[in-house]
Amino acid sequence: AADNATSNNAAAPAAAATGAAAAGRRRLEGKVAIVTGGARGIGEAIVRVFVRHGARVLIADIDDAAGQALASSLIGTGEEAGAESLACCSFVHCDVSCEADVERAVGLALAAHGRLDVLCNNAGVLGGQGTGSPNNNTNSIASLDAAEFDRVLRVNALGAALGMKHAARAMLQGNGNGHGGSIVSVASVAGVLGGMGPHAYTASKHALLGLTKNAACELGKHGIRVNCVSPFGVATSMLVNAWRDRTAGAGDEDDEGIVMSGARWASEVEKTEEMLRGMATLKGPTLREADVAEAALFLASDESSYVSGHNLVVDGGVTTSRNVIG
Ligand code: NAD
Repeated sequence: AADNATSNNAAAPAAAATGAAAAGRRRLEGKVAIVTGGARGIGEAIVRVFVRHGARVLIADIDDAAGQALASSLIGTGEEAGAESLACCSFVHCDVSCEADVERAVGLALAAHGRLDVLCNNAGVLGGQGTGSPNNNTNSIASLDAAEFDRVLRVNALGAALGMKHAARAMLQGNGNGHGGSIVSVASVAGVLGGMGPHAYTASKHALLGLTKNAACELGKHGIRVNCVSPFGVATSMLVNAWRDRTAGAGDEDDEGIVMSGARWASEVEKTEEMLRGMATLKGPTLREADVAEAALFLASDESSYVSGHNLVVDGGVTTSRNVIG
């Protein structure tokens, strides 16, 4: 199992910490966290902020190259005051829809660090053609593709459930001293409202919110908190590729893995952000990965010690508005 992992526990030069961490307020000091889908996008931002705040983080993702590169780049960046607070980052290949992978990732965190304090269920897919989108007549529920629907549910809902299962076991058995743990899942405004994404995606995020409430009810007595963060749109590769498909009139291919580079990528991001600004209730700033990561940090840390079963929307007020789709 461990041979698929890239471990960066070795001492290395510390990079400059920023923000609250630099001011000495490291909110995940001593904690061990797993971030699924942490290789890029919102997950990458969560990994970065967790490490900056003193956590030892295991990135669990299917993108081996990006995950390993990110882990390597974060060697020692959380280091400040001796071995006890040495933050580190490592990577393990993990498809969250595969229970053996999830079990192995949790086992690896326990083997390396002896405990698991935080699970961030961030891995997710939007789904390709045939999952139905209320915004795209060529991709309606009337042409729902059962296999693609199943794939989206397997990653977004079952993947999170499997993460909760194995994290809960580790937190119940491994942590001792009754200090519990925190499970934070990245859901979506599409888990709150209809009309915000493809049908399969919307169903999967509603499922994730329900799962979160149930798990919070059950695990609360063990001091384990379970919460969600639900962002509005962020111009990650997930959304940029989806919008690009729609505007190009394509959309009959699954582009989730494609990451453009250079000027073309920047221009696609700008186009996506422009569309998001048009849809947004809060005018001015654009929602960025780091904003979502700060919300996840709050729910992961002891600062939210009495918050459980909650869905923290990071949407600039979109879900409180009647007219959300531009
Ligand atoms: P992204 O496509 O940029 O990144 C997703 C990451 O998850 C990638 O690293 C990918 O390799 C990984 N991944 C995909 N399938 C996986 C699997 N089966 N097992 C493990 N890892 C897997 O997407 P993102 O926008 O950063 O999305 C992250 C989360 O945020 C998702 O759950 C998504 O639904 C949610 N979200 C995104 C937005 C948005 O606008 N981008 C809005 C609301 C919620």
